[in-house]
This record gives sequence, structure tokens and C-alpha cells, in this order.
Amino acid sequence: MSRQLERRGACVQCGECCKKTRITSILSNILRQHGTLEDAKAYYSFRGIKFADIDERGDRVLLELDIPCDRLTEEKSCILHTEGSTKPLICQKYPWFEDDIESCGYSFMEK
Ligand code: SF4
Ligand code: SF4
Repeated sequence: MSRQLERRGACVQCGECCKKTRITSILSNILRQHGTLEDAKAYYSFRGIKFADIDERGDRVLLELDIPCDRLTEEKSCILHTEGSTKPLICQKYPWFEDDIESCGYSFMEK
């Protein structure tokens, strides 16, 4: 059973979550495809994709690529704010769970 977490805090606009691309994947699918986690890690690492987090209980893997969002300005703000455009839903709701970004103003507590 996955942990029930409650998000607390607020965005302090550090811009860290916009500097990389993070993709959530399903751990059991990866293991079915690659056989072992070590093999999967090797395969992904050859393409510059890092396993940022592995949540075995939640059957989830957080993959990370060094691809920054091109809407992030040098001042670490999202240009969509000034353009009056709507941010993608995932940006509005970020972070969904612990993401190991130390500067993030959000934290999670067990419910
Ligand atoms: S769209 Fe804006 S908030 Fe979303 S990742 Fe890009 S810069 Fe960050
Ligand atoms: S990492 Fe957290 S505090 Fe920093 S910009 Fe993203 S949501 Fe805001």
C-alpha cells in the first residue's frame, strides 16, 4: 500500500523544478521490459536518463533528464505568467510527491 502524504508549504519560486524534465513511470512495467533494475538503469543512463527516485510500494519511478523548460527565464520565473498564458496542469499542481529538491518550499507529511 502506498503512503498517504499531505503536501504543505508554498512555492518560493526557486525555479529548480523547471530546470530538468521529470517523467513518472511504472516500476513493474520497467522491470517487465528490462528484467532487472540494474539493466534498466544502464539502458536509461546511456541516454542521459537518471533514476531520480524509486518508490517500490507505490510501483513508481521518477525519471530525470537534463532538459530545462524553455519557458523558464534567466530570473527563474515562468514566462507564461507575464504572457498571461495558462501553465500546464502538471506545473500548477507540482509537486505531487517528494522530489528531492532541497530548495522547494513544499514538503510532505505522513497523513
Ligand atoms: S511551463 Fe513554467 S512552470 Fe512549467 S516547467 Fe516551464 S517554466 Fe516551469
Ligand atoms: S521547486 Fe518548489 S519552490 Fe521551487 S519553483 Fe518548483 S514548486 Fe516552486
